[in-house]
Amino acid sequence: MTKAKLSKSTLDFLEPMQLPFFSNGDWQTSAQAIDVIDPATSEKIASVSLASARDIDQAIDSAANAFTAWSTQSITLRTRCLRNLAQLIQRDEQILAELECIDVGKPISAALEFDVPFAADCFSYFANVAEDFEYTSNNNLTTTDSHVVKLPYGVAGFVFPWNFPLTLCAWGIAPALAAGNTVVVKPASETPLSSLYLAKLCQEAGFPAGVVNILPGQGSVAGEALISSQKIKLMSFTGSTAVGKHVAEVCGRNLVPAKLELGGKGAAIVCNDANVDHAVENLSGAVTLNAGQVCCTASRWYIHEDIYQEFVDKAKAKYQSTKVLNGAHPEAEMGPICTEKQLSQVLNCIKEAKEQGAKVLCGGNRITHGEYANGYFIEPTLLAGSDDNTWAQEEIFGPVAFLLKFSDEDEVINRANQNPYGLANSVWTTDSDKAIKLAHSLVGGNSWINAHNVFEYGLNYGACNQSGCGGGVNSVATFEGYLRHQSIASVR
Ligand code: NAP
Ligand code: MG
Repeated sequence: MTKAKLSKSTLDFLEPMQLPFFSNGDWQTSAQAIDVIDPATSEKIASVSLASARDIDQAIDSAANAFTAWSTQSITLRTRCLRNLAQLIQRDEQILAELECIDVGKPISAALEFDVPFAADCFSYFANVAEDFEYTSNNNLTTTDSHVVKLPYGVAGFVFPWNFPLTLCAWGIAPALAAGNTVVVKPASETPLSSLYLAKLCQEAGFPAGVVNILPGQGSVAGEALISSQKIKLMSFTGSTAVGKHVAEVCGRNLVPAKLELGGKGAAIVCNDANVDHAVENLSGAVTLNAGQVCCTASRWYIHEDIYQEFVDKAKAKYQSTKVLNGAHPEAEMGPICTEKQLSQVLNCIKEAKEQGAKVLCGGNRITHGEYANGYFIEPTLLAGSDDNTWAQEEIFGPVAFLLKFSDEDEVINRANQNPYGLANSVWTTDSDKAIKLAHSLVGGNSWINAHNVFEYGLNYGACNQSGCGGGVNSVATFEGYLRHQSIASVR
């Protein structure tokens, strides 16, 4: 029972029979609710109000009403709210980490190390960006006296997936709010808890009513209402490529700009001069992080034939020693898969990969003995096979790496770039010139060297091709993406 391991403050937050959603500065309970399930035990941990299409429409209206005051507020007052929020996230880091654990399944230690501090830092970072930004630029033209002002759009809509509920919500809304937009957020209905807690902290941080609205709801109902509203001025979607295409279509009909952060199938190219121990340690860590439910993780590993066997032996040993436990256990390195549906999806991908000729080098099974019986646990898995296997090219979204052998570096870049996604890849070599050359040649939003999953505020994290469009997150460019340009001119 995970609940027994939670702090009193977390249990107090979960106490209401049905958690309300946050709209127009107010907490509202709806007729519809969803059970939130602990993936480590499959027990119900809470019931959460689900927003209807009408609830979303009302939240958009309240965000529109709040926009003028928020966008014309002094930057100092606006950034004060963001900095207060950053501090409150830090203050309540344990509660937020426990909520991510019981909702998503991730180890509390991992949430304390990454998800929660990184969310707090996001609000501080964009407060700094907003303060330093040049909102006006003068033109130097012949016939006009003119300048350009950069202004917020209005109401920005957000839809998020279930894998990093808190961090992704911060990545999305921090730049939008800092730029002076107001926001309506629909978190994934399966993992609403930390987003609702964030709403509580937004209220405490002093954001005026209507500036931040957070309403869990089903994609087909609340999500549709949000993306199809003509009252939103910008839409930001993080999730699967399939739903992202639908979001782009619907927004396109209204000419609402849609920013899309979608799926991926990251390649790791491990050259014959790589530090094998370092590569094994980090790539295994990348695939077991969040039980592999990471859009940008390395899930296609191209290993040079000279070091292939050494790499496989070490990777198997590393995988087999990974501590797969309830995320509330202090020693957990990997928790369960987030939902039963995703667990079946991962097991089905492994089955199909085998049917298409892939070999299972280790793992591949659900863990069902003893205390694992009712949870959604799976063994970290290594598959080996050829590029034409569906699951060497498609996103599995679980702790599964697909190993592929190569002998020539030019050829492997060509093979890696055949994949339709374009999110994040990595190269592993001790030759720094080669590293830069290969990193440039890989097509994607991010090329990392001797590391995978590299994040720092100021470093843009974006995508191309089937992994999305719209500029990415975490940089000054992201902030600027939440501002429209307006030319002001008079004729001389
Ligand atoms: P998903 O099925 O696309 O769902 C994402 C969100 O969209 C959920 O909130 C979902 O609502 C909502 N949704 C579904 N149908 C909708 C519709 N018709 N209109 C509006 N919203 C709708 O993705 P997921 O399974 O939650 O997340 C995993 C995917 O996200 C993976 O492909 C992963 O790579 C990607 N991802 C990308 C990034 C990135 O930064 N590039 C980051 C994280 C994850 P409900 O589920 O509540 O119904
Ligand atoms: Mg859950």
